[in-house]
Amino acid sequence: MLADKDRIFTNVYGFQPWNLPAAQKRGDWDKTKDLMAIGQDAIIDRIKASGLRGRGGAGFPTGMKWSFMPKEPRPDRPNFLVINADESEPGSCKDREIIRHDPHKLIEGALIAGFAMRARAAYIYIRGEYIREAETLFAAVKEAYDAGLLGKNACKSGYDFDVFVHRGAGAYICGEETAMLESLEGKKGQPRLKPPFPAGAGLYGCPTTVNNVESIAVVPTILRRGPEWFASFGNENNKGTKLFQISGHVNKPCVVEEAMSIPFHELIEKHCGGIRGGWDNLLAVIPGGSSVPLVPAAQIRDCPMDFDGLRALGSGLGTAAVIVMDKSTDIVRAISRLSYFYKHESCGQCTPCREGTGWMWRVMERLRTGDADISEIDTLQQVTKQVEGHTICALGDAAAWPIQGLIRHFRPELERRINERQAGAGMQEAAE
Ligand code: NAD
Ligand code: SF4
Repeated sequence: MLADKDRIFTNVYGFQPWNLPAAQKRGDWDKTKDLMAIGQDAIIDRIKASGLRGRGGAGFPTGMKWSFMPKEPRPDRPNFLVINADESEPGSCKDREIIRHDPHKLIEGALIAGFAMRARAAYIYIRGEYIREAETLFAAVKEAYDAGLLGKNACKSGYDFDVFVHRGAGAYICGEETAMLESLEGKKGQPRLKPPFPAGAGLYGCPTTVNNVESIAVVPTILRRGPEWFASFGNENNKGTKLFQISGHVNKPCVVEEAMSIPFHELIEKHCGGIRGGWDNLLAVIPGGSSVPLVPAAQIRDCPMDFDGLRALGSGLGTAAVIVMDKSTDIVRAISRLSYFYKHESCGQCTPCREGTGWMWRVMERLRTGDADISEIDTLQQVTKQVEGHTICALGDAAAWPIQGLIRHFRPELERRINERQAGAGMQEAAE
């Protein structure tokens, strides 16, 4: 179990105030100027050495992403940092806790990361539903400006850097990085084709890096404690500490910072008081937010909670939003509900997603009630394969994968419902 002294987010439960004086007592904004003085390339090298991988779900190496930014930005084409706080993945709630209780870690991280990638400013795009969190963030940014930590000659570093907070309006798709850029530019939030990636052509066509809240908020601590310290947690390809968000049928749902690669049973036993009704009552787990396939109980128990461990089970770490489902769960209904979510949130610009998400949801609803033919299970599987990988953004994949996981692991349950429904209809006909 991660020792308290190794926790980055020491105020994740909000036992202390979020404000600047309290944050400074916790060590935030301590000699930030000195951290910046090591130089932009040295900061990027240290983030690379720490092994930090993006905490928004995809796990792209953070230092490498920063190194794609031009080292000598043109005056008419400045570099920008965009921080993705549009946390909307069902099950995810870690960025919310950072912004509520530790916003200065994020703001200090924005300055250091922005400086390292030669950015003129950072835009923090916060989910529209996070109303109180946005208020906290606006107030924390103002505190930082008033204290000379942001703006001209930020932290007396000689570097000018602004932070702008932008509120979303409730669209899940605006969390996709290029839809977010469109939205920031005042347009309809629809993903762009990639490449070009944002580092080539991002906000207003300028070089841009989009990073998740947690990825940026850990940066000051990594620099203060050293990349080796961060890299000492987890394993070769999965380093550092990580905020896990455990919801569903555990005795104590929580958000907790742990070492990457902690085994699933340890995470649940040490922090959540175990599975509701005991381990024999566990049915399945969605380990990384709704966009990754479920893992059945028999496989998850000893799995290391990291990118590789969960990929080996045909799933993923995603945002580390762990949704636990016990045997009281109607698993078909649960996945059908997710299908509805993706249908509702599809931006509609590509046909496989626009038409496919609705089609998949309607079949899922019939499978839920058993009003389908057995052959439709295979047809549904084929349709998920037609959607997966054939769309502009990852929402199409995210809609397909939970259904694929359901069919892979719970096909007998789907068949049982259909068979029972048909047997019931047959008996009724015979009675008539
Ligand atoms: P992605 O793998 O396409 O990209 C990840 C990041 O790496 C992006 O910033 C991208 O620009 C960059 N990148 C990838 N290849 C690159 C290259 N060749 N050159 C330069 N940059 C490159 O994934 P994505 O579509 O950004 O994100 C998908 C993930 O988002 C899913 O795994 C899901 O878990 C997660 N997600 C999170 C939330 C949330 O609320 N946090 C919501 C929905 C989905
Ligand atoms: Fe829009 Fe779906 Fe296409 Fe993404 S995959 S661009 S959400 S239609």
